[in-house]
Amino acid sequence: MNAVVFDGNAYAAEKERELRELVAKLGRPLKLVSVVIGDDPASHLYVRLKGEAAQRMGIQFDKVEWHIAHSTWHIDQLVEKIRVFNADPTVTGVMVQLPLPLEIRERTVEVLDAIEPKKDVDGLTSTNLRLIQEGEPRVLPATVKAVVSILESVISNRQSVISEYLTGKNVVVVGRSRVLGQPLAAELRRLGGEVTVAHTQTPDLKSVTREAEVLVSATGKAGLITGEMVRDGAVVIDVGEPKGDVEFASVKEKASFITPVPGGVGPMTVVSLLENVVEAAAATYHKS
Ligand code: NAP
Repeated sequence: MNAVVFDGNAYAAEKERELRELVAKLGRPLKLVSVVIGDDPASHLYVRLKGEAAQRMGIQFDKVEWHIAHSTWHIDQLVEKIRVFNADPTVTGVMVQLPLPLEIRERTVEVLDAIEPKKDVDGLTSTNLRLIQEGEPRVLPATVKAVVSILESVISNRQSVISEYLTGKNVVVVGRSRVLGQPLAAELRRLGGEVTVAHTQTPDLKSVTREAEVLVSATGKAGLITGEMVRDGAVVIDVGEPKGDVEFASVKEKASFITPVPGGVGPMTVVSLLENVVEAAAATYHKS
């Protein structure tokens, strides 16, 4: 088998076109505030890509930088700043770029939970993560939404819906982080998948991944998933960054569908975040 290679840039561009029309139809300004803490170059790059995409879609984008020089990490001030954005009616969505710098990483939940859940367009507040675990999602983390959209693209020409496609399927998610692996597994389970979560303590990872009809790897461990760990004909989605969890050449020979890194999940995550911004705006618009 030689897998279909997902073109995340092309698919995201298509979604962007649809979103641009929706933004124009909403007929009022949307604003996304992105808080980036510290000077990690990768975080600043991701924020820049999100900002450029937002601008292409007619969404105002404010990057708010918080550096060590501002204080010796006075989290209270940061939380206060986020609350100002919560209260500002011109702000549609607020997000904090992860990971936080090592010095304050253990306070990630506190910082994220400062965001008002209705403006939490990255879906990472405790309230919104809990709703996902309860099977009643209000907003999905952008990367989770990206994976679901990619699966929808797999079935788009089979006139099926994703829950029909996933029901009864053996799905394996490698990675169990609070903000990614766990909500991803919960959402794929809600959509009907028979989901197994694997992690560093999984005794025989290969025997688990070889059973997967849909395999999603979200670990950040480059080259973790090799061809011999993949079932013939599997759908393989690689969330890992920056190098990809999946050994592309060997897995492509076994899978029926594969996402590359770069150019797979990454661009879909950016557009999914902006979809969340538009949905948050539409929800408050209909209520006001
Ligand atoms: P994380 O908090 O470090 O969690 C990594 C998870 O992977 C943990 O559950 C860990 O298991 C598991 N893991 C690590 N090495 C493993 C191994 N050898 N075998 C099995 N499981 C292993 O990271 P995260 O925030 O979830 O992010 C995961 C990856 O996704 C990173 O590469 C990140 O950059 C990427 N990411 C990509 C996007 C995108 O848009 N493409 C967005 C967000 C994140 P334990 O729990 O046992 O430690």
